[in-house]
Amino acid sequence: MPAIPLRQVSARSGAAVRVAQGHTIKIINTKGTQVVDFWTLNDANPEESLSMAHTHGALCRVTPRVNDTMYSNLSRPMMILTEDTSAGVHDTLISPCDAGRYKLLGAEGPHPSCTDNYKIALQQYGSVSSQIMDRTPPAPLNLFMNVKIESDGQLTFGAPVSEAGQYVCLKMLMDSIVIMSACPMDLRATNNWNPSEFNYIVLG
Ligand SMILES: [Zn+2]
Repeated sequence: MPAIPLRQVSARSGAAVRVAQGHTIKIINTKGTQVVDFWTLNDANPEESLSMAHTHGALCRVTPRVNDTMYSNLSRPMMILTEDTSAGVHDTLISPCDAGRYKLLGAEGPHPSCTDNYKIALQQYGSVSSQIMDRTPPAPLNLFMNVKIESDGQLTFGAPVSEAGQYVCLKMLMDSIVIMSACPMDLRATNNWNPSEFNYIVLG
């Protein structure tokens, strides 16, 4: 029986959920073209968070593969990518979208963002200090995000190459708060110009 049954995160919104050590969260790209910004915090010490930069240093590559361990900002093992039925195209470089990015891209007026979704999800989760909740979120694991690094260092933002129903499984190595955002980006190809919902389930 799943520790948490199948749940849906609607388009342009986020969620936070506790995932115990040894449990696995399965994130399903329901429509196939949705990027999921993904963070974890150590439930016992939310100052410790999943770190893309520390993971780069440990793995010596940009994109994690199945069986890779991902690390915290204290260089401690935080989770393992245990399964990936997509083509394995995920981004670890790009910061979560925020109000400033949308302004730079020409949006007029307020626009939902992964940064806001992170803060709202943690507020709804509760039991995290306002100091943690209100800070700028760390760089996320951008699941299914297709950012190609060209040989001259140029980054090209493409639409996801994943297909409907493809998923990744991440096994927690410590009691964790998992925060996820259905990226609302609609001014780049990030979500194939059409942000949509995704589903997740927590397995014991
Ligand atoms: Zn976003």
